[in-house]
Amino acid sequence: MSDAAAEPNVLLRRAVERDRVHSAYLLSGPGAAPREAALAFARALVCSGDAPRPCEACRDCRRSSAPNEIAIDGAGKSGPPYRQIGDHPDLLWVERGRADTRVRIAQIRAVQGALRLQASGAGRRAVVIADAEWLNQEAQNALLRLLEEPPPRTTLVLVAASSAGLLATVRSRCQRVPFPVSRARLPEDPDAADAFRAHLERLAGIRSAGAPELLDWAEAFRGPRGPAADGVAAFLDAASSWLRDRVVESIGGGGAEVGPWLDAFRVLSSCRKALVQRNANPQMVAERALFALREATG
Ligand SMILES: [Zn+2]
Repeated sequence: MSDAAAEPNVLLRRAVERDRVHSAYLLSGPGAAPREAALAFARALVCSGDAPRPCEACRDCRRSSAPNEIAIDGAGKSGPPYRQIGDHPDLLWVERGRADTRVRIAQIRAVQGALRLQASGAGRRAVVIADAEWLNQEAQNALLRLLEEPPPRTTLVLVAASSAGLLATVRSRCQRVPFPVSRARLPEDPDAADAFRAHLERLAGIRSAGAPELLDWAEAFRGPRGPAADGVAAFLDAASSWLRDRVVESIGGGGAEVGPWLDAFRVLSSCRKALVQRNANPQMVAERALFALREATG
């Protein structure tokens, strides 16, 4: 197996230790883990102290850990299009503005402009693009140019809950670093684990999926009933696991309603019954589950 099988944080730490850093990474997966890993990785890249990096003792680490609460505004009206990590001049952070639904092209252009300037030291520079699944099409095209001609000693770190919304050309230029929800919950069989991870990644983007996409998704479960039913059963397992995380998040976050997630749970369990006890058509079952899951995302 390639490095992709390694624990994501280990893989990133190893890249820094061996000084074998790619020009672009795509960290994908649900929850806060990919974002936290991107932050630590970027800080490690400019750390001038001893391993393990970030050392938290050198001048660079002190700068990159300085508080920085500047709110980003994609339109550049009430805030800058990006900010620094801490007050480190060689670490840039992009995310969608609070009121924006998208990461905009102006933000990518602003980063491009900043990267054209010299780095402050002889060391590396890094740009984290959090919320990368929210890059709009033109922003992705601008980003693509940056990925095609990366500035020297500069690393771009994309963070996305799901990589499904990114252009294939963007994805293919990044070193992929998928984060599983929880290793303990993954099936032991490697193929099944891969499928499970792929389902989770796709589910992370279900909120913005239209009906045609959901129907298309369900169509993957067409064909001879045996394998199709097994495929749907595996999908329902992954979906239940994904739902559990959403419930935990809503309870933790306080504000969000748990009710819709629980409704979706009920639909999933009825889907499972239909599949096993009533010999229902697997594709239809998948459709029903997918629409219920999207409904639950509000
Ligand atoms: Zn350091």
